[in-house]
Amino acid sequence: MDRTRPLPSRRRVLKGAALAAVPYALLPDARAGAQSRAVDYPTAEWQSASTANYTAADRPMDHAVDRVIIHVTQESYDTTLSIFQNSSKKVSAHYLVRSADGHVAQCVRETDIAWHAGNWDYNTRSIGIEHEGWVDEPSYFTDALYERSARLTAAICTRYGIPRDREHILGHYQVPGTDHTDPGPNWDWVRYIRLVNFA
Ligand SMILES: [Zn+2]
Repeated sequence: MDRTRPLPSRRRVLKGAALAAVPYALLPDARAGAQSRAVDYPTAEWQSASTANYTAADRPMDHAVDRVIIHVTQESYDTTLSIFQNSSKKVSAHYLVRSADGHVAQCVRETDIAWHAGNWDYNTRSIGIEHEGWVDEPSYFTDALYERSARLTAAICTRYGIPRDREHILGHYQVPGTDHTDPGPNWDWVRYIRLVNFA
């Protein structure tokens, strides 16, 4: 879907910037502008991945979504966004959660297939959530990161009818064929699943 949408013209970009202070309802093309930045999770900030880094699709119409896959970036939040925006990297995730405050960025629409699991079957059927941090540095796994990520996962589970358990909310390390270890032994799964269930 994103792939076929034309890039906004320079005129429109400039016009958008100049009219940033004008009340929303006065803009004739406000709806089209909002659509190009739409997110699936209301409080997420749209930070588009390069269209070269995911597969455009029409989920859940063409592929059922029945898993959430939890990752840890091994990079900073800003570096992760720039990797997703780099067309040569061939990697992306639907969401990225920032360590310090749990801020959520959406980088790929949920209708599309992000490239995060390293396994096509698991990519097609899952939503991928990256968390800023390193597997061997538990201080990155803050209360805010757990709580806001859990709320995001809970919303995804509600939307697709995914059970809120460890059979359906997986670590990257559980994906068949992967050599990744994230989110690693410091990730508190008991706490996380509890938060998802009470979000
Ligand atoms: Zn991962």
